Amino acid sequence: MLVNATAMLQAAVKGHYGIAAFNTNDLEWTRSILLAAEELQAPVIIQCTAGAASWQQGFKVVKDVVEDLVDYMNITVPVAMHLDHGSYEDCFKAIDAGFTSIMYDGSHEPTFEMNLERTAEIVKLCHGKGISVEAEVGGIGGVEDGVASSGELADPDECKAIADLGVDFLACGIGNIHGLYPDDWAGLSMDRLAEIKAKTGDLPLVLHGGTGIPTAMVQEAIDNGIAKINVNTDLQVAMAKATWDFVDSGEAKKGKNYDPRKLLKPGFDAIVARAKELIVDFGCDGKGWA
Ligand SMILES: [Zn+2]
Repeated sequence: MLVNATAMLQAAVKGHYGIAAFNTNDLEWTRSILLAAEELQAPVIIQCTAGAASWQQGFKVVKDVVEDLVDYMNITVPVAMHLDHGSYEDCFKAIDAGFTSIMYDGSHEPTFEMNLERTAEIVKLCHGKGISVEAEVGGIGGVEDGVASSGELADPDECKAIADLGVDFLACGIGNIHGLYPDDWAGLSMDRLAEIKAKTGDLPLVLHGGTGIPTAMVQEAIDNGIAKINVNTDLQVAMAKATWDFVDSGEAKKGKNYDPRKLLKPGFDAIVARAKELIVDFGCDGKGWA
């Protein structure tokens, strides 16, 4: 059974650990994440952007695959099915498809007031259905957005205004960036995190762009209120590297290794291994029922 993400994230805030939120791209990706979480008895959030959902033929397919695998694999740890960076319109589609958790990313709306209005509407709708809600203040930097060496810093007062709408967890820029970090990246701003935390209390905070931040820096952020760490690129790179190695070694062309179950196995094994490392780094191993 899928759960919403509220209880697991509140427990993470209390226990000073972080929940890994991994993006999925297909059935094998979901299976690999679930294998890692179950083996380490870690609660986990499986998330999907609208783009990745479209690739998988829609939100309903994504949610059904996650739900059916949880059932078929006898997964015992809490699993949430979360929409990552949903537009206003995406939110309604994911809710209809049965997602148990929603991120409404209103940071791209023309005004902060519109972000507030729409977040309030989504919170009301979702809470009536037992769905948890993540909102975003400011933007998260990203190489694709043309932002170079430092990510954006969210305004603490805007964070408080969004928090007061009753959102369950909040994404706020503290210098983090989507994708891979440039060599001259300035690092996370623990000062800004503390300022946001001072205004938002026990609300679980979300760190986007969890790929390539030094482990000690992530752990310091977790100690200071980060409860959910979004990881997408990291698993993609792990999968790609293992696949490239398999091809480069010549093994991929031997025997019946054209069989996709064999050709793609090293890549998916790498996802399991890397997901387990991250779960341990974030301290959520063994917290399945914390
Ligand atoms: Zn993000």
